Amino acid sequence: MLTHLSSIHLQQAIERIENTPEQEQVRIGVLALQGAFLEHCHALYAVGAKPVELRSLQDMENLHGLCLPGGESTVMGKLLVQNRMLEKFAGFIQGGMPVFATCAGLILLSKEIIGFENQVRLNCLNAAVNRNAFGRQKESFIEELPIICPFLSENDAEKQCVFPAVFIRAPQVVRVGNNVTILAKRNEQILAVQEKNMVAAAFHPELTENLLFHTWLYKKASEYKQLL
Ligand code: GLN
Repeated sequence: MLTHLSSIHLQQAIERIENTPEQEQVRIGVLALQGAFLEHCHALYAVGAKPVELRSLQDMENLHGLCLPGGESTVMGKLLVQNRMLEKFAGFIQGGMPVFATCAGLILLSKEIIGFENQVRLNCLNAAVNRNAFGRQKESFIEELPIICPFLSENDAEKQCVFPAVFIRAPQVVRVGNNVTILAKRNEQILAVQEKNMVAAAFHPELTENLLFHTWLYKKASEYKQLL
């Protein structure tokens, strides 16, 4: 089933990438235990990557990047432990593998989850997050959000663009470490951040046609592959 990116172009991209020999693919593991992973897979195909759905340790081979979708962070954390994937996941990220996380993925990636200190997490991103900072599912909204895109290209550092940000039971980042760049803010709420090989957003780029974040992931994963 194709999602909103459904088009002849996406179908062509899927066919082209699936017909590329594995050693030539830029392979990005998408955590597929729960949540909105399919939309990320389609966005990744659209930018030229091969998404690899991750459900077990056996799936976690020959990867050049990672994607953590939105969904329910408590369930994803439990399933990561149950399937013995948590340590390997965190190890990949600590080892420099590029990762893009959205919403529940941002929560999982963070070092601190306020009020849920014992919640299972990857403990990689130097940030403290507040879950459900924007209310319940029925209070979901979309807003044009100015974001800094230091990752557009080397010369575009600090360049601003406006992003169609979709908020669904979104978290908010309330504190970040010195080494973390803030990419998007709404009033005083921090909504997207970057720390080295990690980019994370409280909103859902995979539900829009804007492929900026997935393009970043593809580019970084291609570079990472060259280092292996
Ligand atoms: N509030 C959810 C959580 O805490 C995240 C919501 C989402 O990913 N859309 O996991």
